[in-house]
Amino acid sequence: MGSKLDEQLISASKAVWAEKSAAGDFQGVLDAAIASYIAFRAIDAAEEDRTTALAAIYDSIGRLTRGNDPGYTCSFCGEHRPKEQLAAGPNVFICSQCVAGIAATFAARSSREHDGPQ
Ligand SMILES: [Zn+2]
Repeated sequence: MGSKLDEQLISASKAVWAEKSAAGDFQGVLDAAIASYIAFRAIDAAEEDRTTALAAIYDSIGRLTRGNDPGYTCSFCGEHRPKEQLAAGPNVFICSQCVAGIAATFAARSSREHDGPQ
């Protein structure tokens, strides 16, 4: 992998997904992402690029089957967007309520540790 032509194929593919996604054409994203994934495997593209194609396939299937909400849920409590605002990490999501709960727990623990043993 790594030829100039391969790099152009990869960046052109990602541009097609982005353009179709911005236009709300998720069937187009799915078609392009599947074709790209097959092409990426054929040129032995980097794992990261293949994973990006898989993520585009997964996201577009979610949008086609569940509407425009890709169906993300909080990895801690299971709440759905848009009921709760979600922050994303690598393969995980957390909602604003869980962030607040965890922050309060950490703050209480931190203040007990600073006070020292009674
Ligand atoms: Zn949560």
